[in-house]
Amino acid sequence: MRIGYAGFQHESNSFAHVPASLDKWKEAGILYGDAIRAEYETSQATIAGYYQRLRDEPEVELVPLVFARLTPSGQMTHEATEFLFREILESISTNGPWDAIFLPLHGAAVSDLYRDADGELVRQVRNLVGPDVIIATSLDMHANVSEKIVKYSDVVTAYQTNPHIDPDKQAFMAADMVLRTYRGEIRPSMFMAAPPLSVNILSQGTSDEPMASILRLAETARAIPGILYVGVVEGYPYSDVEEMGMTFIAITDDNPDLAKAVANEVASLSWQLREELQGGAVAIDVALKEASEATAFPIVLFDVGDNIGAGTPGDSTFILHAARKLGISEITQALCDPEIVVLCQELGVGSHISASVGGKADSMHGEPFDIEGKVIALVDGRYEEPKASHGGFRFYDDGKSALVKTEDGFTLLLTTLPAMSSSLEQFRSVGIDPVLQKIMVVKGVHSPRPAYEPIAAKMIWLATPGASSADLSTFVYKHRRIPMYPFEEETVWAPSETNEERLT
Ligand SMILES: [Zn+2]
Repeated sequence: MRIGYAGFQHESNSFAHVPASLDKWKEAGILYGDAIRAEYETSQATIAGYYQRLRDEPEVELVPLVFARLTPSGQMTHEATEFLFREILESISTNGPWDAIFLPLHGAAVSDLYRDADGELVRQVRNLVGPDVIIATSLDMHANVSEKIVKYSDVVTAYQTNPHIDPDKQAFMAADMVLRTYRGEIRPSMFMAAPPLSVNILSQGTSDEPMASILRLAETARAIPGILYVGVVEGYPYSDVEEMGMTFIAITDDNPDLAKAVANEVASLSWQLREELQGGAVAIDVALKEASEATAFPIVLFDVGDNIGAGTPGDSTFILHAARKLGISEITQALCDPEIVVLCQELGVGSHISASVGGKADSMHGEPFDIEGKVIALVDGRYEEPKASHGGFRFYDDGKSALVKTEDGFTLLLTTLPAMSSSLEQFRSVGIDPVLQKIMVVKGVHSPRPAYEPIAAKMIWLATPGASSADLSTFVYKHRRIPMYPFEEETVWAPSETNEERLT
């Protein structure tokens, strides 16, 4: 049995202004062949799950073709989309024939060429390989799953944890279903329910209620005889696409009615809980005061509006400015500013620095923050996280970075690339122990939790402005469904009416 895998992963924020250009993809690295295996086989990312399931199947040849992932940002450019599609389709075409294709995608990629970039790729792959090759599509839990993805795949799976600590487990199940399908043991029949429901990013934590209850129901349903898979997909509210919203996938062994009933049951529970799925955040000043008056540390402040994992530039300065105004300065955080990293390198370790940092990439993320301080360390920005982290990734690269301490008490790790707060190693690699810090600002909503929850005395989510603001009423959508909850509060949905139209 020959299985090839190829894909790209991008979460595109339609409201962020820095596009996912081809240059950015190439900078991040487009991997081919064995280089993909070397990078991911020992990780806990999706691709690792394929190997975990298939490595002891001597008759299966698993062939890495091409793979790229890029930190979330604005939409993918026309050029980048064309390039990635061509690389993926050509590699599938020239290295076949195949019995199955794995597509490790994200599910919330929006491009200037195709609004539903993931769905379009699945469609084109299906066209290329024909109806008999088994296609398994693996998605992030933030996927906005389109009809196309479901229609042209045999099985679709998605992470079931947020923060994402199970990509390999879900891919393992996908690989298992593909293998059993190939051996004639099962015939997957899939149904997706897609109520017009958007979940606030602050209500997407899978260990928090009410999301935890929804996932428990899905988990219980997995035990029903004939059910192969049940997936809850939270969706990504910052992609302005028709399919934006929550989806519920059920896969059965050749039982379309059961798939429909189970997907609709989990969707119905979520619809009942829709009000509770719209979380709120704390005002910046209120959170800063609470942090400064705390008696146990570190207090971890989540910059919700500059959630790098949701496609923002990582250089927002609203919290820094507010803190200085309030006379609070014992704050440690990473901040993207490639220009000032270069300046720090020119000045050298131990030098005095006078500069304006952050607030440059996108007018939505605040004004530059003036500092007088000292360059403490210069590093290459690479570090390794051996423990389970968001997305299961192991190797991190923030680009060349500089640690600066300001005269008024801020500790800033200036990075060349937008640096997610997924690993404590980010700070340890510059000699800072996060455990000993007073207030830490992390840029994210869920992704920092596996790293920071174990050490935080308290975590607070802040209502910061920006391209990933928790307040969705600040965005003008052009493509989402209307009506849709919570935008149109009176939205009505019943499973029997909606789903038959969406999927047949
Ligand atoms: Zn995600």
